[in-house]
Amino acid sequence: MKLKKLFTSSLAAAGLAIGIQSGAAVAAEQSFVTIGTGGQTGVYYVVGQSICRLVNRGSDEHGIKCTAPSTGGSVANLNAIREGGQNMGVAQSDWQYHAYNGTSKFEEQGANKELRAVFSVHPEPFTVVARADSGIKTFDDLKGKRVNVGNPGSGQRGTLEVVMAAKGWTMDDFKLASELKAAEQSQALCDNKVDAIVYAVGHPNGSIKEATTSCEAVLVPVSGPAIDKLVAENDFYASATIPGGMYNGSDADTETFGVGATFVSSTKTDSETIYQVVKAVFDNFDRFKRLHPAFANLDPAKMIKDNLSAPLHEGAERYYKERGWM
Ligand code: GLU
Repeated sequence: MKLKKLFTSSLAAAGLAIGIQSGAAVAAEQSFVTIGTGGQTGVYYVVGQSICRLVNRGSDEHGIKCTAPSTGGSVANLNAIREGGQNMGVAQSDWQYHAYNGTSKFEEQGANKELRAVFSVHPEPFTVVARADSGIKTFDDLKGKRVNVGNPGSGQRGTLEVVMAAKGWTMDDFKLASELKAAEQSQALCDNKVDAIVYAVGHPNGSIKEATTSCEAVLVPVSGPAIDKLVAENDFYASATIPGGMYNGSDADTETFGVGATFVSSTKTDSETIYQVVKAVFDNFDRFKRLHPAFANLDPAKMIKDNLSAPLHEGAERYYKERGWM
């Protein structure tokens, strides 16, 4: 812990990855890298933990030690990468786009032209779950209800705000707008503290399973002209379907829209480090895919180009070229 603290603060101060020499006679240089994830019941946490697990299997050869702590989510990760407090992180495709271009939530900070895409991961449908006794059947029914809008820093909070703006809603349109973190919201739903929760997340996942098995809850479609317009105007959104039968209480397909989860870094992290991280994932891709059911349909050909708006990191590009993928 102490070592990591030391690293994190030096990293923030120096703004770049540093190697910490071991005191022993062996001169092999070690470097410590961090991957920002999301809440512990989400899929980002598994993405980060899985990547680190594969990277750390090769630490003896490349000297990289990887950790993937739980964080506030996409926007928090993009900010930490910009500030140099995290080397890599998982972020929704919409927030990757806005961080790189300095638009939407990132307008005030300006464009982060150092941001780099590494690869995209699983699709993340924008998921609304409501208590069965709340009477909520459509997204518009959320008006006047108690809704967990999520912690600032999470991707879903930002994307929900975009949807609300498209519909001309403000937080006052809800009876209550709570800011619980993703990992806390399923229990709040089942404890009847809120009527509905919102999560942009890969499926199936533990959080939505918890919400739909601990109490009677249903997936709510997110559709209509305002959503169609968002999808038509922005490449980082797409129509999405949560398959029926995946969760208790939702036997029919649920129509919504979604984003893609992406793995990002910045030019602050050197290309050899990113090369080794990417190599650890794609040299062991079958193993990686087995680490979460939301990874089942991942295809390298798509992962290296879909949903990426920042340029590819040099280290990632080197590996993809070596494999003949580009
Ligand atoms: N999409 C969510 C976010 O950006 C995180 C989802 C997850 O943790 O799997 O905050």
